Amino acid sequence: AKASGKARFELFNSEMYASALARLQLETDLRRAIERDEFRVYYQPIVSLASGSILGFEALLRWQHPERGLLNPTDFIPLAEETGLIVQIGYWVLYQACRQMQHWLVNHRNTSLEKISVNLSVKQFSQPDLIERIGQILNSTGLDAKNLVLEITESAIVENGQAIATLSQLQELGIELSIDDFGTGYSSLERLYNFPISVLKIDRSFINPISTDKRNLEIVEIIVSLAHKLGVNVTAEGVETKEQLTFLQNLNCEYAQGYFFSKPLDNLAAIELIRHC
Ligand code: C2E
Ligand code: CA
Ligand code: CA
Ligand code: CA
Repeated sequence: AKASGKARFELFNSEMYASALARLQLETDLRRAIERDEFRVYYQPIVSLASGSILGFEALLRWQHPERGLLNPTDFIPLAEETGLIVQIGYWVLYQACRQMQHWLVNHRNTSLEKISVNLSVKQFSQPDLIERIGQILNSTGLDAKNLVLEITESAIVENGQAIATLSQLQELGIELSIDDFGTGYSSLERLYNFPISVLKIDRSFINPISTDKRNLEIVEIIVSLAHKLGVNVTAEGVETKEQLTFLQNLNCEYAQGYFFSKPLDNLAAIELIRHC
């Protein structure tokens, strides 16, 4: 009995050791990724449902890992959040996206392109120098604040005591604010009534099964109508089928994003799409 107890103990330890080692390796790689220029920004179109034209793009981070290939944010953003590296990475994404957007606006004047959306993490949102850093990025890239949308999750807003003040300062700069992943957190639309938010993004978990699940369908309907009563526009995420699109159009949902229109694209593919619209 003693021997098997010891064997179990050692097994447990070696597994923990292996996973701690893998984590440490990932963290070391993550720390070096910026200087080694391994991050990429992908762009997924956001479509205006009234006109069918591309309103803008959401900037989505990817990591071209030297051994593991192209990684999605879910593979490394949790660790980046935990270690605080997300702050530096987040500003890198914001800078790249603003610079790219300004380049597109200057070189392709006859398009419908208006907005670049960038995700802001919980950690970034609570940094004391947030407003200053964002101001610097707009200055150095030349992008007008009215072309920038910041996406902030409802939990980031609810967890931050200074949220209203920070959001108001961002709005005063002329930046548009969007609540991301709406429906997955614990806030209510009524509670968000006082926040200077202009767009609400319904999480794709509500959109994806709408053709089959009657309850999700009703939730989407309620969110859209409440948002409209509060004077807030709605973006539906994760639209994959024509059927979902028709449903959203019937609700007068303003914008949509999803594989039905396009997957996230690298900057060259994104510009090809703009030029053909
Ligand atoms: P998110 O902000 O909710 O972004 C939307 C995610 O849904 C993206 O995943 C996108 O590729 C995916 N998606 C879009 N349309 C469809 C669809 O029709 N079907 C399905 N199944 N998926 C769709 P992605 O790029 O893997 O990003 C995952 C999450 O990582 C993002 O969720 C966001 O929370 C986070 N993230 C990405 N880039 C950044 C960043 O620069 N900073 C921060 N802080 N977080 C980021
Ligand atoms: Ca987002
Ligand atoms: Ca989202
Ligand atoms: Ca999401």
